[in-house]
Amino acid sequence: MFEKITVPRILAGRCRLCSPCPSIEACRSKALFRLDEDEPPVVEQAYCQGCGDCAGACPYSAITLKTVKAEVLRDGRA
Ligand code: SF4
Ligand code: SF4
Repeated sequence: MFEKITVPRILAGRCRLCSPCPSIEACRSKALFRLDEDEPPVVEQAYCQGCGDCAGACPYSAITLKTVKAEVLRDGRA
């Protein structure tokens, strides 16, 4: 089944590699994290609720929200 979902997009060129990253701290679903301190955060889409809190918390507008069509599994994950 396909549904429209909202997903965050990390604009790596705008990311200032803040430490700590307010967007990671704002994510209540623990869907945003860093693989490396020298890299922008990444999103684990399976945990993301599309709430947009991460985008709102970034002082450099390095995270935007995008609506995409995705196949949604029976348990609600995209
Ligand atoms: S707050 Fe924004 S600019 Fe700073 S590390 Fe997080 S995503 Fe990058
Ligand atoms: S949209 Fe919400 S759930 Fe998804 S990564 Fe951002 S803060 Fe976390």
